[in-house]
Amino acid sequence: MTLRIDNLRVWDGRNATFDDVSLVIDGDRIAQIAPHSRTPATPADEVLDGRGKLALPGLVNAHTHLYSSLARGMAVSPFDPGSFTQILEQLWWKLDKALDPESVRTSALIGAMEAARCGVTTLIDHHASPNAIPDSLDALKETVTEGVGLRGVFCYELSDRDGLDRRDQGIRENVRFLSQPTSSHIGAQFGIHASFTVSDETLERVADSIPEDAGVHIHVAEGPEDEVQCEAAHGERIVHRLDRFGLLKPQSILAHCLHINDDERALLAERDAIVVHNPRSNMNNAVGLFDMDAFLDANVLTGLGTDGLGANMLAELFTAGILQKHSRGNPLAGGFDALYRLLFVNNPAIASRFLNADLGGLAEGSPADVILLDYAPPTPLDAGNALGHLLFGTAVHSLCVTDSFVGGRPILRNRAFVDLDEEAVYARARECAASLWKRLG
Ligand SMILES: [Zn+2]
Repeated sequence: MTLRIDNLRVWDGRNATFDDVSLVIDGDRIAQIAPHSRTPATPADEVLDGRGKLALPGLVNAHTHLYSSLARGMAVSPFDPGSFTQILEQLWWKLDKALDPESVRTSALIGAMEAARCGVTTLIDHHASPNAIPDSLDALKETVTEGVGLRGVFCYELSDRDGLDRRDQGIRENVRFLSQPTSSHIGAQFGIHASFTVSDETLERVADSIPEDAGVHIHVAEGPEDEVQCEAAHGERIVHRLDRFGLLKPQSILAHCLHINDDERALLAERDAIVVHNPRSNMNNAVGLFDMDAFLDANVLTGLGTDGLGANMLAELFTAGILQKHSRGNPLAGGFDALYRLLFVNNPAIASRFLNADLGGLAEGSPADVILLDYAPPTPLDAGNALGHLLFGTAVHSLCVTDSFVGGRPILRNRAFVDLDEEAVYARARECAASLWKRLG
């Protein structure tokens, strides 16, 4: 199957823009990006008019929670948190306990569809459903990668907080899923909730059962109490604790890392472990500041995630920039170079550590993960200012993804899902959410 999109403006996500070109997708690869005026045009099974559209590489969300998709508008009582741990106890740990197999699937479906609408083509998920653990990662995999068609990396966020039986189920689910073969669309990690909810014995079990080439995915120092608890209970900082169990690896994602110190940051760089910044979630939970520039300067592979708070990666990136400027009191902090590295270099590089796919820029021969936006720039657009257009055009106005392809498979065409009946899915999701909310403890 070949598709040719004519009259298109393209930013390759690297150092080139092209005006009025034809982009040809052949199977799961980009076959050609060539001037539209070239005659004869490359023949294709289908031809699309890309006039008024901007093509970009598909976006990667490096840390999200699909299980939170049905929380929108949900009321919990009491809700009077005085700390980040109390936000977890009063809200998120009630929601995840109420999830059953059906709501796990529905939540993942809604989350993945909304991600596709935001131009996300690959997501890295951190899943929890303590009363529906076995096979939950297969449900996510089937929903996200087969049903919607995105690429996904999955893990179960193991914890001691619901007792040893749930902990052991979590270990088994991670081990089971990690034993399946990785592909270009499906990857796996060993999920852990956070240092403060796992004992040394649990980490020992993780270390014993994690495959050599796999890493963990864990929240680290999201709230200040995580480090305080670690020092009190274990006499060391969290990053050193994880290192003691050999869990700092190039395949390990440490989300947040707001309260780690310089020694811990240096160790992360030395181990080549991954850190993911989630600025809007951090602000929403009032947990503290993440010094993005310091992590990039220390050569820590730093990516960007939404932590389940939506999927609009360009709005997230915009926030990462203005938050850094605001917190440093310096309008030059969080500059274009840093932001570009986060979303367009590091996030694809992070995803490529888990998937058999070389994600990133749009080039002949590269995977056909392409999104099209309705975007007619009111000012000149070139490779030097494309990110400025995305941040100050799409992120602060509206994101207008019209078409999306993952490995050449059409996900959205002219704003509609190709393989999904959106109206029916949303109607079912509303019923599922109503019954999920009734089960909240
Ligand atoms: Zn998270």
